[in-house]
Amino acid sequence: MVFMELKNIIFIIVFLAVFGFFAYSVNNLIKYLKVAKKKDDRFDNVPTRLKRVWNIAFAQTKLLRDPVAGTLHLLIFWGFVLFIFAVIETILQGFYSPFSLSFLGPIYTVITLVQDLFGLLVILSIIFSLYRRFIQRVPRLVVDDHGMKDAAFILTLIMFIVISMYGQNASGFANNGMSYHESELRPVSAFISGLFFTGPNSTSTFLYEFFWWMHILLIFGFLNYLPYSKHLHILSSIPNVFFANLDPVRNTIKKLYLDDENADTFGVADIDQFSWKQILDGYSCTECGRCTSVCPANTVGKSLSPRDIIVDIRKRTLEKAPLILEGKTEDELFEKTLVHNYVTDMQLWECTTCMACVQECPVMIEHVDSIVDMRRNLVLTESEFPAGLNPVFKSLETNFSPWAFNPADRAEWAEGMNIKSLAEDKDGEILFWVGCAGSFDDRYKKVSKAFATIMQKAGVDFRILGTEEKCNGDTARRLGNEYLAQMMMQENVETLNNYGVKKIVTACPHCFHSLKNEYPQFGGNFEVKHHTQFIEELLAGGKIQQKKESEKHKVTYHDSCYLGRYNDVYESPRKSLNKVSGLDLVEMERSKSKGFCCGAGGGRMFLEDEEGGRINEERTKEALSTNADTIASACPFCMTMMTDGVKHFEKTEEVTVKDIAEIILENIN
Ligand code: SF4
Ligand code: SF4
Repeated sequence: MVFMELKNIIFIIVFLAVFGFFAYSVNNLIKYLKVAKKKDDRFDNVPTRLKRVWNIAFAQTKLLRDPVAGTLHLLIFWGFVLFIFAVIETILQGFYSPFSLSFLGPIYTVITLVQDLFGLLVILSIIFSLYRRFIQRVPRLVVDDHGMKDAAFILTLIMFIVISMYGQNASGFANNGMSYHESELRPVSAFISGLFFTGPNSTSTFLYEFFWWMHILLIFGFLNYLPYSKHLHILSSIPNVFFANLDPVRNTIKKLYLDDENADTFGVADIDQFSWKQILDGYSCTECGRCTSVCPANTVGKSLSPRDIIVDIRKRTLEKAPLILEGKTEDELFEKTLVHNYVTDMQLWECTTCMACVQECPVMIEHVDSIVDMRRNLVLTESEFPAGLNPVFKSLETNFSPWAFNPADRAEWAEGMNIKSLAEDKDGEILFWVGCAGSFDDRYKKVSKAFATIMQKAGVDFRILGTEEKCNGDTARRLGNEYLAQMMMQENVETLNNYGVKKIVTACPHCFHSLKNEYPQFGGNFEVKHHTQFIEELLAGGKIQQKKESEKHKVTYHDSCYLGRYNDVYESPRKSLNKVSGLDLVEMERSKSKGFCCGAGGGRMFLEDEEGGRINEERTKEALSTNADTIASACPFCMTMMTDGVKHFEKTEEVTVKDIAEIILENIN
């Protein structure tokens, strides 16, 4: 009895020390979040946020996109959740040794049975994880030396926590006369017990106490190691999912308030200029590498790794935030900044803003917002950007298009087509927003004509803005030049609102995304459709009729990121293609939400490749491997990139790149 009391006293001392230190560590992490100055309100819409937590964190829907690794993680996660009951029981036994959750009756039976079986699965999953990381060396799981050691340590620690649980339960089974306690059901532990014991003895009593202490001390050690390890995500990932962007559109760049008189810098050079949510993103990264494994830039050998950027945010936060809080601003660490010294300029400019990283991240980290914020600092505060962007910014400023074409020629493509501008006649049913490529690029002017012809055949009463249209602002915005972007966006909104425009259709996914999802930030609220959606509706409504007989072609469709991943428009282009009788539509290996970028988004259309391979060639190779004779696209940038890719592989005789509008026009009466 004295022993039991002593045990409880020792436990209470250990417990207070452990939880005191844990609270201190967590409090520090929360204080570091407050160092971030950018405002970000994420406390709205709590029920939706909770639902999201259930789907993403508990049902692990994102992880299950990869069935093998996803199932593995799901097992470890749920094993963990159920072990929490065992942990609670063990902790309460520390206060009062005979404590048991057996008063839960049949629920306890289920809990103990599932814990017992899941323990085995967790051990197997850990062995498999160690194998994948250290023997198979799955590329996305291989990180720096420190990260690898950290992973090995934590996985081994979890394994010993489970082993000690079995040790405790097996010896407890022996102590109870080779039988279960009330309402308990632990067949694996009973089996293990049978291997070593025939009944209670001094060894079983000693081993019970040994494993009990081992189990609880490992758990306490694990708990206190978490805030200092990459497994910090165990604490922060559920809050991160809760606070994640609720917008169903995957990325809407947030407005930068350029008229803030107190601002001497714009964008983010270091962690204190981020928002608390962006720092929380850093805490929550599991270093699983899913983002980097799908990053097109990384895939072709460029140095950009979205995982490394997020891990660098965490490293820099843990290094700089304590100094900021202590007021040690003279420390040499202040001579460095996150941008340049951790995240290189090259990495930042290599991003195509394709959103594949955000799509795959199991803990809802928002990489692209942080990348654009850092680009904003480079452009607006430091004026440090690739020389190739000088003419682009200059053209946008003077010609309102990224190319140096005369803005007076914007409507030349429509000459002879009897298309009216809003200036000529305001009474149109819908505005056809042509976009810069559709207005000036020789290849895409053909697409503008094809789509306009389809609308004319369907009897749609549309108008264009003609010379009053300006670049939608997407390129400047994603390149970090918010000043230029806002200038064009505001001017366009003014023009559109002056004409009372309500409905817009466009053949450019970048214009589509910007007008639909970002113009509301500037007072522009319109019903915006992409031309693939519009064509689908015209076909479905019988406004245009497909030919009974059409030429046979094997077609593969390349998803534009801004149409697909950004706006979930996957089916409209496919449905239209499937309506054409002669077409055989084949999918590329990476399609729809797993589609691979063409390489031109985020302003990359106007930047040279300074390292690694070319993203468009990687994508074209995949398209060519389907043996399709036609690559269908629905974006001017994709069309340029895929056409260049086909030229690179010298396949221009065999393979044609066409827009959906062109294919449909060829196949309707
Ligand atoms: S948005 Fe695309 S290119 Fe940019 S980091 Fe993410 S995956 Fe890579
Ligand atoms: S950012 Fe997300 S996907 Fe990338 S390594 Fe971290 S947790 Fe994994």
